[in-house]
Amino acid sequence: MSSRPDDAGPTADKIRCDACPVMCFIRPGQRGACDRYANADGLLVRVDPHVVLERAIEGGGRVVPFGAGAPDWDGTMVGQPQAFVTAIGAGTTYPDYKPAPFIVASEIEGVDVVTVVTEGIFSYCGVKVKIDTDRHLGPERALARVDGEAVGHVTTGEYGSQMLSLGGVHHLTGGAKREGRVTCETLLALCNGGAVTLAIDGGATVEVQSGRPPRVDGALEERMRVGCGSATIGMFAKQWHGLVDEVVVVDDHITGVLSEHQAGALLGIPATGIKLKGRRSTPGRYFQVAHPGTGWGGTDIADPLQILGAFDPRAARPGLTVLMVSTTGEHAAFYRLDEALRPLEADMPAGLAASVALIRENCEPALSTVLFMGGAGGSLRAGVTENPVRLTRSVKDALTTVTCGGAPTYVWPGGGITFMVDVSRVQAGGFGSVPTPALVAPIEFTLRRDDYRALGGHMDEIRPLSAFGEPGGHRRRVVQRADNPWPLAPGTRP
Ligand code: SF4
Repeated sequence: MSSRPDDAGPTADKIRCDACPVMCFIRPGQRGACDRYANADGLLVRVDPHVVLERAIEGGGRVVPFGAGAPDWDGTMVGQPQAFVTAIGAGTTYPDYKPAPFIVASEIEGVDVVTVVTEGIFSYCGVKVKIDTDRHLGPERALARVDGEAVGHVTTGEYGSQMLSLGGVHHLTGGAKREGRVTCETLLALCNGGAVTLAIDGGATVEVQSGRPPRVDGALEERMRVGCGSATIGMFAKQWHGLVDEVVVVDDHITGVLSEHQAGALLGIPATGIKLKGRRSTPGRYFQVAHPGTGWGGTDIADPLQILGAFDPRAARPGLTVLMVSTTGEHAAFYRLDEALRPLEADMPAGLAASVALIRENCEPALSTVLFMGGAGGSLRAGVTENPVRLTRSVKDALTTVTCGGAPTYVWPGGGITFMVDVSRVQAGGFGSVPTPALVAPIEFTLRRDDYRALGGHMDEIRPLSAFGEPGGHRRRVVQRADNPWPLAPGTRP
């Protein structure tokens, strides 16, 4: 059970949590408002176990024991440490001028290094969601809502994917209280691998979950398109040559027409008199053949003939054959012109059906991908050093490595320490939240001990790595994911 800060006042048996600005008073046996801290017999404890990563032996998947066979081991190894103290479950110190919860010394091939770990509280954070689908989710800048609350918006689409930008300080703090709470819950669910259903204003309803196929208006998306319509023509023109007179690859962005395309020209495919609606960009490439939607190739059409005008009798002839196909091969139809040059649907010849199957085969599985993005360039730095800007410079100068629960990050150029991490590479349950509202994300800074001293680090707080190998601690040992680099491997900074 949680103690809410607004109904909690000081009494003798309550203890005060000072790990975030909410400053909960917590009764014995109860948890604070974030469920992260509890009063255990008068002691303030972090509820979740602290995660220490153990390195798997490469290729074999076995784990390197933490200090096994070395009773007097001091936490350093010839070579490199086989354990990495993450910030997951490490707790937070607030206000930030206090040293971070753990500052850990280890040694990488004779070089003393320090890892500073803390669960950062991020008011400035959000997620970027990449959704592999051609289907139109909504216009750019349309709001994305959860339970009616605006939590983000549709942003610029990418190649074969629609993109959402969710969270951010505006939705967390700039709207009504409920908007902030729902936004925070949405981010937390997505960062911890949960599924979230978003309704886009003027668009679709989409269910997303990191590493899982998206579901658009209830339909599970299976394939990411092989390319735009023009690229599909370029890739498969040769396979169609001799099997069909004309091919149209229907795409909301760039619809391709084989006989007009450069690929068709190089293969000597003659004009067919076909007429496309929409705006011609370059030969064989058409924009805006229909409206965006969830039909053929991310358009709103269910009948591909809707995008064709009348065939030009100067080039067309009765019996001319046309394949119309979408960029995923999910939709395909075969036509033959009748005496009046009208396309009539006919059975798809086996050779063409095989080419459609090849398009499908070349599509990658559709996934939703979630990247957390947060700004650690603020006061959090003071828990690392008494001179915060030096940490920023150290990160920029590649003297300090930033990891998130042991997962690699990308730090944006420019000011501050704004980083991104693929949430699927962070250990499960690595993210939390506080009701300010803000997200809690693990963050570790690893740098040479000498550099740490030089930037004004909290040298008196450094503890040996061996202290984290002792039994009985509220710690959980987790094997580092095989797809993540070992944070303390040689060659990894520092
Ligand atoms: S909400 Fe803040 S003050 Fe309350 S228990 Fe959680 S971290 Fe502590």
